[in-house]
Amino acid sequence: MLLAGPGEVPAFDRFQVAEVVPDLTTLLDRASTAFAELEISVAPTFIGSVARLTAITEPLWWAWGVVNHLMGVGNSPELRAAHAQIQPRMVDLGLRIGQSRALYAAYCTLRDSPTWATLPEIEQRIVGNAMRDMELAGVGLEGSARERFQALERDLAELQTSFSNRVLDATKAYSLLLSDPREVDGLPASWRARAAAAAGGDVERGPWQVTLDTPSYLPVMEHARARQVREQLYRAFVTRAADGELDNQPVIRRILALRAEKATLLGKSDFVAVSLAAKMAPGASAVDALLAELRTAARPKALAELEELTAFARHHGHIGDLALWDVPFWAERLREQRYAYTDEEVRPFFALPAVLDGLFAVLQRLFGVSVRAADGSVPVWHPDVRFFTVHDGAGVRRAAFYLDPYSRPADKRGGAWMDVSRDRYEARTPVAYLVCNQTPPLGDTPSLMTFREVETLFHEMGHGLQHMLTAVTRPEAAGISNVEWDAVELPSQFLENWCYDPATILGREGRPGLARHWQTGATLPADLFARICAARTYRAGSTCLRQLYFSQLDLDLHRSPGADPLAVQRRVASANTVIPPLAEDRFLCSFTHIFSGGYAAGYYSYKWAEVLAADAFGAFIEAGLDDEAAVQATGRRFRDTVLALGGGTHPLEVFRRFRGREPQVAALLRQTGLT
Ligand code: ZN
Repeated sequence: MLLAGPGEVPAFDRFQVAEVVPDLTTLLDRASTAFAELEISVAPTFIGSVARLTAITEPLWWAWGVVNHLMGVGNSPELRAAHAQIQPRMVDLGLRIGQSRALYAAYCTLRDSPTWATLPEIEQRIVGNAMRDMELAGVGLEGSARERFQALERDLAELQTSFSNRVLDATKAYSLLLSDPREVDGLPASWRARAAAAAGGDVERGPWQVTLDTPSYLPVMEHARARQVREQLYRAFVTRAADGELDNQPVIRRILALRAEKATLLGKSDFVAVSLAAKMAPGASAVDALLAELRTAARPKALAELEELTAFARHHGHIGDLALWDVPFWAERLREQRYAYTDEEVRPFFALPAVLDGLFAVLQRLFGVSVRAADGSVPVWHPDVRFFTVHDGAGVRRAAFYLDPYSRPADKRGGAWMDVSRDRYEARTPVAYLVCNQTPPLGDTPSLMTFREVETLFHEMGHGLQHMLTAVTRPEAAGISNVEWDAVELPSQFLENWCYDPATILGREGRPGLARHWQTGATLPADLFARICAARTYRAGSTCLRQLYFSQLDLDLHRSPGADPLAVQRRVASANTVIPPLAEDRFLCSFTHIFSGGYAAGYYSYKWAEVLAADAFGAFIEAGLDDEAAVQATGRRFRDTVLALGGGTHPLEVFRRFRGREPQVAALLRQTGLT
């Protein structure tokens, strides 16, 4: 069998789509049978419950992980069909395990037994979190409550899908045809080419088709000089899925009502409490306090930014106040005037090989690990994919990762991500997949990266490090497993900070930085680097306030399910915006993050993780970025806490061990220029 198990690396060279269904079916049958046996003979011990369950399911989850990985990096109609055929059975097995009363009863007995106190902290946390997840899945309910809970889950799944389908359909149903060249004045050539192609028009003479998809919509808001075009499009954008057959308003009210009922069945005060039960944030009041603290800093800044932008716009011919559809346009003009640099200016200084050298040097400097190329030592799924091993200070191999750097639109999903290839398990070393989508090399020219692509690579490496440098030897809590999801972005966002570190980018003490011209070897000009750094905090008040608006709205809607959602929105907007939304604004009707994605009562997680990441980097600033010994000592402490402890310790405790105190907002405010 090809998908044999996590003892080896996947045999990508011998992978056959035709084997997916038979292999997975065999593994599913095996796991199902073994799980049925476990339910009969499960013992109230760690070994007799958790460890047995892992032994039963690991080969299956591993093989399914390989298939899912290939869905992302080597997609084909045949693979999709095989995936779709297996997926329902995977979901069923997951539900069966998550709702197993026998398993839950064993966990309860274990927790109440005298041996509980003797279990290592990691094992206690694994069992505790497993119980929590099962409780949130309704395992503790009996009789009619159980039936009602399952009906709620089914209805919610359907409503959430329907919500996002309506957004998609409404987005698809709208298009605006522009036929006067004045209407596309200001728009970039690449946009015109796409828009003309979509309308069957001519690049120069039109017509051009605009839609509400971001790549079409956003450039118009940022670049179109024709104000009435921006207004028309803006109004269409904020009223998507808000009337007729595609009206999401009844769906929103229904989703909020069902989530509230679900919370009641689970014995929680509201759905916010359900969401927070599985997160790092200790409770709703802590989240509210965080949002309030950030708001106090962001709102005056956002007001000042609006004032400044209005003055700038008036100076350049705008008359009157700025409307919502003017802000992105003028913000872009101001940005261009102050900080603009083009990707083309930057790219020659960020060739992938030099960027990797620089990134690996940071890892060596901070965490004392060395990365070695090991291309050819394992099979890969595409010739561009590279393989690296990670070694500790004594040269011992601790982990490995694949890097699939380039965009391949034909068979690779967009975006960037880190995924687990295999977990650490006792002596078995962890392996990660790092996937990006940057510009491929061309002839003798290496892959030349935009600054954003460099940040993305650092970001994914941050996730990868938490997976690879884990010291936890139980797979249920090693690396990123079992980490509360409002804490998961800590290592990734933390590592991004080093892209703004002068020593890393420009070099130090005669050592070159990672930004060197790929042909001349010249260092990135200091003024260009200064503009890159300044652009990071441009309009930070407005950006932050917008996220606070979404976060607070999400929480308040889930706290008052009977209230009129539009009234809640108006109330939240009054404290969290600097230009009030239009009376006809129905942005809630396309807020998929909370009504169909996984961010219900969890949108705040973005800010929560940002606070942690900035505060963690703040430890390095306090220690002194010029003090090499201090940077190294702080880096080792970060490695031995945040990166090493993974899901085996509560993230708040992990943070305390690194920082010596609770997280504070000040560092994020400093980093984004809000103080
Ligand atoms: Zn991330």
